[in-house]
Amino acid sequence: MSVELESLPAGLAATVEAHGKAVAAGDNRAVLADFLPDRIGQLIASADVPTPLKSAEVRTITDVGDGRYDAVIRYRKPDDEWFELRSRWVRFEDGSWRVLSVRNIPATAPWMDITGPGADGLDAPHWDALREGELKIQRCGECRRWIWSPRPICPSCHSMDTRWEVVAPVGTVYSWTRTWQPFTPESTGHLPYVVVLVELPGADGARVVGVLADADGITPTIGAPVRGDIEPPPDEQHWPLLRWHLENPLS
Ligand SMILES: [Zn+2]
Repeated sequence: MSVELESLPAGLAATVEAHGKAVAAGDNRAVLADFLPDRIGQLIASADVPTPLKSAEVRTITDVGDGRYDAVIRYRKPDDEWFELRSRWVRFEDGSWRVLSVRNIPATAPWMDITGPGADGLDAPHWDALREGELKIQRCGECRRWIWSPRPICPSCHSMDTRWEVVAPVGTVYSWTRTWQPFTPESTGHLPYVVVLVELPGADGARVVGVLADADGITPTIGAPVRGDIEPPPDEQHWPLLRWHLENPLS
C-alpha cells in the first residue's frame, strides 16, 4: 500500500482488506455488513462489479478529512484483467468502519437510455444538431424569443414560425444536484454524478440540463461559468451527451 499503516486509525486497514476479500469471494453477507445501514439499498447497485473474481488487492488508503478515508481496491478477474473500485469509509456509531460510498474508477459519465428525441418529435432538431456537434435551441421567427423546452407555438406571440438556431455551449450554473442512487440500470458503475442546469446568456438565459464532468468532491457554485463539450455516444443506440465543464474548477 502507498500509505503508512501506523498513520491509519486502528482496524481500518484490516477491515478494508477483509472487505476486498469478501467482494472477491462473492460473500454478499459479509459485503453488506460493511455498508452503512442506511446506505445499503444505494450501495448494492451503485458499482459495476463483474463476477467471478479471483483476487482483491488494497492499493491505497487515503485520509480525505472529516474522519473519512478513501480506499482503492484492485480486483482481478479469472483472466487476470483487473478493475478498481474506490470506497469511502467512515466510523459507525458501534465503532466499526463502514462504507459510505463506492464508485468505479475512473469516473465515467452515465449514458441514459431515456435521452434522445421525445415521442412527439418536437425536440428532434436539438438531438440531430448534437449529432452534428452543435447546440441548437428553438427560437421564434416572429418575436425572436428563445424557447426552451421546445413548443409547437411561441409562448410569447403565439406564432407557429418556430426555428432552430445554434447557441454557443457557454453559460453559468443556475442549479445542480448530485445523484448517488442508481435510479436506472445504466447508471450503475457511474455514481455519483452531478447534473447541472445551465443558463445560456447566448439564448436570453434559456436553461438546459447536462452532466458536469470531473465533479467528484466538487461543490459547484451557483453562477459559476461553464462550457459544454458534446461527447459522441458509445454506440448507435445512444445519443450524444452535452457534458459541462467548470471554467475554474478550483474556485
Ligand atoms: Zn414569438
